Amino acid sequence: LVSKAPNMGTTIFTVMSALATEKNAVNLGQGFPDFPCESKLLDLVDGAMREGLNQYPPMPGVAPLREAVSKKIETLYGRHYDPASEITVTAGATQAILTAILAIVHPGDEVIVLEPCYDSYVPNIELAGGVVVRVPLTPGTFRPDFDKIRAAISPQTRAILINSPHNPSGMIWSRQDMLTLQEILAPTDIVLISDEVYEHMVYAPNQHWSAAHFDGLAARAFIVSSFGKTYHVTGWKIGTVAAPAAFTAEFRKVHQFNVFTVNTPMQHALARFMADTAPYLELPAFYQRKRDLFRQGLAQTKFKLLPGEGTYFQCVDISGLDVPEKNLSEAQFCQWLTSDIGVAAIPLSAFYGNGFDQKVIRFCFAKKDETLQLALQRLARL
Ligand code: PMP
Ligand code: GLN
Repeated sequence: LVSKAPNMGTTIFTVMSALATEKNAVNLGQGFPDFPCESKLLDLVDGAMREGLNQYPPMPGVAPLREAVSKKIETLYGRHYDPASEITVTAGATQAILTAILAIVHPGDEVIVLEPCYDSYVPNIELAGGVVVRVPLTPGTFRPDFDKIRAAISPQTRAILINSPHNPSGMIWSRQDMLTLQEILAPTDIVLISDEVYEHMVYAPNQHWSAAHFDGLAARAFIVSSFGKTYHVTGWKIGTVAAPAAFTAEFRKVHQFNVFTVNTPMQHALARFMADTAPYLELPAFYQRKRDLFRQGLAQTKFKLLPGEGTYFQCVDISGLDVPEKNLSEAQFCQWLTSDIGVAAIPLSAFYGNGFDQKVIRFCFAKKDETLQLALQRLARL
């Protein structure tokens, strides 16, 4: 067999979670909650299954869920997406992003990614035959560098991928950032893929600025969301894509022959859950408390805290630690931290094509308080 992806390894999240399990470490690596979702949501799944909602749903997803998502976007971001022709339910954000890329990138097209970036973007572009154009976010602050973005655009640029709130840094694009991007893209036909999976994890005084807020961005954007993050059910693998009808039509061509559609009962359960409440509105306060608890604990250690404006990730600089292992590569340090200290983390180098090592690692704080306390106790030894 001649590999189509000779340089593609195993994703860091799988690697670190396997090591965490093997070493019985507290897993603050891969991003997922260790607490249950609302039991009402489970009852709704059970109810949907017992009602017999167990066969194929419509290809773009069940209508009530597309309607609920449309209503949410309109309420929060002020733009109407037609549930019939502009919203598609996907098997998580991962499939949404791959499908959007496969639908629009022709072999040889350039696609801009801003590094550090989520680890599926680059392999997705390469599988589509696209050419990856890497633009660094500003070192230290992880803010967009618009001069570099401008300079990276060429006649071959088909798309740009952005992600705010940002994994791994937690940084959030401001309204002005989005306006500047809009202005840069205005004279082009570049497609925007806006990964907004952490849209509801934004901490005061910050605010999420969706591509949906901006006419000039929304008109060219696939906006990607994930229920897994918002409802503490990452294993359900359900997300959505909102995009103008012409974009959605191309998206669905690929979607239908990729997964065709996504499991039925959970879609109905999520739609019903969203119908009588707006549970996502409670998420910022819920996670801000955990972020503050974790940051306060880390402030007592020699890890240096980086800012955390959003997401459920906290990055720290390891260069001030008293242990010789701080001189290892980030990846080796994370392996040592998992094996010898009993806390798993993710090296930031995993989010760069060239493995750029800046002595920064990422912790996930979507954990029970006692899990965070245990991790903090162990980290305090360093
Ligand atoms: N994009 C980003 C930035 C993510 O952090 C994640 C989840 N780790 C995804 C996409 C994928 O989300 P899902 O689990 O819904 O596929
Ligand atoms: N998005 C999660 C993270 O960044 C991991 C998802 C996955 O394991 N693919 O930790």
